[in-house]
Amino acid sequence: MSAFNEVPRARKGVLRHQAHRYGESERGVPLEFYGPDTGPVKVLVMASMHGDECDSTVALSEALRRVPAEALANPVILAVNPDGVLQGTRCNANGVDLNRNWPAANWSPEPVRYKDHGHTVQDIELSTGSAAGSEAETRHLLALVERLQPHAIVSLHTPLGCIDDPDDSELGRWIAAETALPLVPDVGYATPGSFGSWCAEKNIPIVTWELPTEPLPAVIDSHVPVLMKLITGTHPVGTG
Ligand SMILES: [Zn+2]
Repeated sequence: MSAFNEVPRARKGVLRHQAHRYGESERGVPLEFYGPDTGPVKVLVMASMHGDECDSTVALSEALRRVPAEALANPVILAVNPDGVLQGTRCNANGVDLNRNWPAANWSPEPVRYKDHGHTVQDIELSTGSAAGSEAETRHLLALVERLQPHAIVSLHTPLGCIDDPDDSELGRWIAAETALPLVPDVGYATPGSFGSWCAEKNIPIVTWELPTEPLPAVIDSHVPVLMKLITGTHPVGTG
Protein backbone atom coordinates (compact mmCIF):
# COMPACT_ATOMS: atom_id res chain seq x y z
CA MET A 1 0.00 0.00 0.00
CA SER A 2 3.03 2.30 0.09
CA ALA A 3 3.39 5.10 -2.39
CA PHE A 4 6.35 5.19 -4.77
CA ASN A 5 8.33 7.76 -6.66
CA GLU A 6 7.45 7.73 -10.35
CA VAL A 7 10.37 7.26 -12.76
CA PRO A 8 11.54 10.71 -13.96
CA ARG A 9 10.25 11.64 -17.42
CA ALA A 10 13.80 11.71 -18.84
CA ARG A 11 14.21 8.02 -18.00
CA LYS A 12 10.78 6.61 -18.81
CA GLY A 13 11.52 6.11 -22.51
CA VAL A 14 13.39 2.86 -21.90
CA LEU A 15 11.95 -0.35 -20.51
CA ARG A 16 14.47 -1.15 -17.79
CA HIS A 17 12.69 -3.95 -15.93
CA GLN A 18 14.20 -7.41 -16.15
CA ALA A 19 12.24 -9.69 -18.48
CA HIS A 20 11.49 -13.27 -17.48
CA ARG A 21 10.99 -15.69 -20.38
CA TYR A 22 8.10 -18.14 -20.04
CA GLY A 23 8.27 -19.77 -23.46
CA GLU A 24 8.31 -19.03 -27.18
CA SER A 25 5.54 -18.13 -29.61
CA GLU A 26 4.70 -20.31 -32.60
CA ARG A 27 7.24 -18.27 -34.63
CA GLY A 28 9.92 -18.47 -31.96
CA VAL A 29 9.49 -15.01 -30.45
CA PRO A 30 10.21 -14.94 -26.70
CA LEU A 31 7.14 -14.87 -24.45
CA GLU A 32 8.08 -12.62 -21.56
CA PHE A 33 6.74 -11.11 -18.38
CA TYR A 34 8.03 -8.58 -15.84
CA GLY A 35 7.80 -8.43 -12.06
CA PRO A 36 7.69 -11.21 -9.48
CA ASP A 37 8.42 -14.66 -10.92
CA THR A 38 7.21 -16.75 -8.01
CA GLY A 39 3.67 -17.10 -6.74
CA PRO A 40 1.22 -16.64 -5.37
CA VAL A 41 0.77 -13.11 -6.70
CA LYS A 42 -2.14 -10.71 -6.26
CA VAL A 43 -2.90 -9.77 -9.87
CA LEU A 44 -1.48 -10.85 -13.23
CA VAL A 45 -1.90 -8.01 -15.73
CA MET A 46 -1.64 -8.73 -19.46
CA ALA A 47 -2.17 -7.13 -22.86
CA SER A 48 -2.47 -7.99 -26.57
CA MET A 49 -3.97 -11.46 -26.54
CA HIS A 50 -5.35 -10.06 -29.81
CA GLY A 51 -2.41 -8.73 -31.84
CA ASP A 52 -4.44 -5.99 -33.53
CA GLU A 53 -5.22 -4.45 -30.13
CA CYS A 54 -1.66 -3.31 -29.50
CA ASP A 55 -2.75 0.02 -27.97
CA SER A 56 -3.18 -2.18 -24.91
CA THR A 57 0.54 -3.07 -25.08
CA VAL A 58 1.58 0.57 -25.46
CA ALA A 59 -0.56 1.70 -22.52
CA LEU A 60 0.63 -1.13 -20.25
CA SER A 61 4.27 -0.50 -21.27
CA GLU A 62 3.85 3.19 -20.43
CA ALA A 63 2.61 2.23 -16.96
CA LEU A 64 5.46 -0.25 -16.50
CA ARG A 65 8.14 2.24 -17.60
CA ARG A 66 6.86 4.87 -15.12
CA VAL A 67 7.20 2.43 -12.21
CA PRO A 68 10.58 1.78 -10.54
CA ALA A 69 11.63 -1.87 -10.32
CA GLU A 70 11.33 -2.02 -6.54
CA ALA A 71 7.70 -0.85 -6.73
CA LEU A 72 6.58 -3.42 -9.31
CA ALA A 73 4.51 -5.78 -7.14
CA ASN A 74 2.54 -7.73 -9.74
CA PRO A 75 3.57 -9.62 -12.89
CA VAL A 76 2.99 -7.91 -16.25
CA ILE A 77 2.79 -9.44 -19.73
CA LEU A 78 3.01 -6.79 -22.44
CA ALA A 79 2.06 -9.09 -25.32
CA VAL A 80 0.42 -12.47 -24.89
CA ASN A 81 0.37 -12.74 -28.70
CA PRO A 82 3.65 -11.21 -29.96
CA ASP A 83 3.36 -12.83 -33.40
CA GLY A 84 -0.02 -11.15 -33.85
CA VAL A 85 1.42 -7.80 -32.74
CA LEU A 86 4.29 -8.12 -35.25
CA GLN A 87 1.94 -9.15 -38.06
CA GLY A 88 -0.83 -6.72 -37.07
CA THR A 89 -3.38 -9.52 -36.82
CA ARG A 90 -5.96 -10.46 -34.23
CA CYS A 91 -4.85 -14.10 -34.56
CA ASN A 92 -1.47 -15.71 -33.94
CA ALA A 93 0.85 -16.86 -36.75
CA ASN A 94 -1.25 -20.02 -37.26
CA GLY A 95 -4.43 -18.03 -37.82
CA VAL A 96 -5.78 -18.95 -34.39
CA ASP A 97 -7.77 -16.58 -32.18
CA LEU A 98 -5.93 -17.26 -28.90
CA ASN A 99 -8.97 -16.15 -26.94
CA ARG A 100 -10.87 -19.18 -28.34
CA ASN A 101 -8.07 -21.75 -27.95
CA TRP A 102 -8.28 -22.41 -24.20
CA PRO A 103 -8.97 -25.93 -22.92
CA ALA A 104 -12.29 -25.04 -21.31
CA ALA A 105 -15.24 -27.44 -21.48
CA ASN A 106 -16.97 -25.13 -23.96
CA TRP A 107 -14.06 -25.08 -26.50
CA SER A 108 -15.41 -25.50 -30.02
CA PRO A 109 -13.66 -26.45 -33.31
CA GLU A 110 -16.07 -24.18 -35.19
CA PRO A 111 -14.36 -21.13 -36.68
CA VAL A 112 -14.86 -17.91 -34.74
CA ARG A 113 -16.10 -14.86 -36.64
CA TYR A 114 -15.26 -11.30 -35.76
CA LYS A 115 -15.98 -7.88 -37.18
CA ASP A 116 -13.50 -5.13 -37.74
CA HIS A 117 -13.97 -1.60 -36.53
CA GLY A 118 -16.83 0.26 -38.15
CA HIS A 119 -18.58 -2.90 -39.35
CA THR A 120 -21.61 -4.53 -37.76
CA VAL A 121 -21.46 -8.09 -39.18
CA GLN A 122 -19.11 -10.68 -37.68
CA ASP A 123 -17.94 -12.10 -41.02
CA ILE A 124 -14.14 -12.55 -40.71
CA GLU A 125 -13.22 -16.16 -39.90
CA LEU A 126 -10.42 -17.34 -37.64
CA SER A 127 -9.51 -20.79 -36.38
CA THR A 128 -9.94 -21.81 -32.75
CA GLY A 129 -6.99 -24.19 -33.13
CA SER A 130 -6.54 -27.83 -34.20
CA ALA A 131 -7.45 -28.77 -30.63
CA ALA A 132 -8.08 -27.02 -27.34
CA GLY A 133 -4.78 -25.64 -26.10
CA SER A 134 -3.06 -26.37 -29.43
CA GLU A 135 -1.08 -23.11 -29.57
CA ALA A 136 2.26 -22.46 -27.90
CA GLU A 137 1.08 -19.08 -26.60
CA THR A 138 -1.88 -20.74 -24.86
CA ARG A 139 0.11 -23.64 -23.38
CA HIS A 140 2.91 -21.44 -22.03
CA LEU A 141 0.51 -18.88 -20.54
CA LEU A 142 -1.50 -21.67 -18.95
CA ALA A 143 1.67 -23.04 -17.32
CA LEU A 144 2.66 -19.54 -16.18
CA VAL A 145 -0.74 -18.93 -14.57
CA GLU A 146 -0.48 -22.26 -12.75
CA ARG A 147 3.02 -21.31 -11.59
CA LEU A 148 2.29 -17.72 -10.47
CA GLN A 149 -1.09 -18.60 -8.91
CA PRO A 150 -2.60 -15.11 -9.31
CA HIS A 151 -5.54 -14.29 -7.05
CA ALA A 152 -6.98 -12.39 -10.01
CA ILE A 153 -6.16 -11.64 -13.65
CA VAL A 154 -6.70 -8.43 -15.59
CA SER A 155 -6.58 -8.79 -19.39
CA LEU A 156 -6.45 -5.65 -21.53
CA HIS A 157 -8.23 -5.53 -24.87
CA THR A 158 -9.60 -2.82 -27.18
CA PRO A 159 -11.89 -1.15 -28.28
CA LEU A 160 -15.23 -1.94 -26.60
CA GLY A 161 -14.81 0.62 -23.82
CA CYS A 162 -16.09 -1.40 -20.89
CA ILE A 163 -14.98 -3.41 -17.88
CA ASP A 164 -16.21 -6.99 -18.32
CA ASP A 165 -16.42 -8.73 -14.97
CA PRO A 166 -18.79 -11.72 -14.70
CA ASP A 167 -18.14 -11.84 -10.92
CA ASP A 168 -19.03 -8.16 -10.30
CA SER A 169 -15.94 -8.16 -8.09
CA GLU A 170 -14.54 -5.42 -5.92
CA LEU A 171 -11.54 -5.23 -8.30
CA GLY A 172 -13.75 -4.87 -11.39
CA ARG A 173 -15.88 -2.22 -9.73
CA TRP A 174 -12.78 -0.31 -8.69
CA ILE A 175 -11.34 -0.33 -12.26
CA ALA A 176 -14.71 0.76 -13.67
CA ALA A 177 -14.93 3.63 -11.19
CA GLU A 178 -11.32 4.74 -11.78
CA THR A 179 -11.61 4.64 -15.59
CA ALA A 180 -15.23 5.85 -15.81
CA LEU A 181 -16.01 2.86 -18.03
CA PRO A 182 -19.26 0.88 -17.64
CA LEU A 183 -19.07 -2.40 -15.72
CA VAL A 184 -20.71 -5.23 -17.70
CA PRO A 185 -21.25 -8.95 -16.90
CA ASP A 186 -20.36 -10.11 -20.45
CA VAL A 187 -19.52 -8.72 -23.89
CA GLY A 188 -22.91 -9.65 -25.37
CA TYR A 189 -21.97 -12.80 -27.30
CA ALA A 190 -20.78 -16.32 -26.51
CA THR A 191 -17.03 -16.86 -26.21
CA PRO A 192 -16.36 -20.64 -26.18
CA GLY A 193 -12.77 -21.59 -25.41
CA SER A 194 -12.00 -18.10 -24.17
CA PHE A 195 -9.38 -17.39 -21.54
CA GLY A 196 -12.24 -16.19 -19.33
CA SER A 197 -14.02 -19.54 -19.69
CA TRP A 198 -10.87 -21.38 -18.62
CA CYS A 199 -10.28 -19.02 -15.70
CA ALA A 200 -13.88 -19.51 -14.54
CA GLU A 201 -13.37 -23.28 -14.47
CA LYS A 202 -10.19 -22.79 -12.43
CA ASN A 203 -11.94 -20.34 -10.06
CA ILE A 204 -9.55 -17.55 -11.01
CA PRO A 205 -11.37 -14.19 -11.09
CA ILE A 206 -10.71 -12.38 -14.37
CA VAL A 207 -11.53 -8.82 -15.33
CA THR A 208 -11.41 -7.95 -19.03
CA TRP A 209 -10.48 -4.28 -19.39
CA GLU A 210 -11.64 -3.12 -22.83
CA LEU A 211 -9.97 0.20 -23.64
CA PRO A 212 -12.19 2.73 -25.42
CA THR A 213 -11.98 3.97 -29.02
CA GLU A 214 -10.15 7.15 -28.15
CA PRO A 215 -6.85 8.40 -29.56
CA LEU A 216 -3.94 6.70 -27.81
CA PRO A 217 -2.72 9.85 -25.99
CA ALA A 218 -6.15 10.23 -24.39
CA VAL A 219 -6.18 6.55 -23.41
CA ILE A 220 -2.75 6.94 -21.83
CA ASP A 221 -3.83 10.03 -19.89
CA SER A 222 -6.90 8.39 -18.41
CA HIS A 223 -5.86 4.73 -18.05
CA VAL A 224 -2.11 4.61 -17.33
CA PRO A 225 -2.44 6.07 -13.79
CA VAL A 226 -4.95 3.32 -12.97
CA LEU A 227 -2.68 0.65 -14.46
CA MET A 228 0.21 1.96 -12.36
CA LYS A 229 -1.83 1.51 -9.17
CA LEU A 230 -2.70 -2.00 -10.27
CA ILE A 231 0.82 -3.21 -11.09
CA THR A 232 2.31 -1.63 -7.96
CA GLY A 233 -0.40 -3.18 -5.78
CA THR A 234 -1.36 0.27 -4.46
CA HIS A 235 -4.99 -0.08 -5.58
CA PRO A 236 -7.19 0.02 -2.49
CA VAL A 237 -9.21 -3.17 -3.00
CA GLY A 238 -8.44 -6.71 -1.99
CA THR A 239 -7.99 -9.31 -4.70
CA GLY A 240 -8.82 -12.54 -3.00
ZN1 LIG B 1 -9.61 -8.49 -27.90
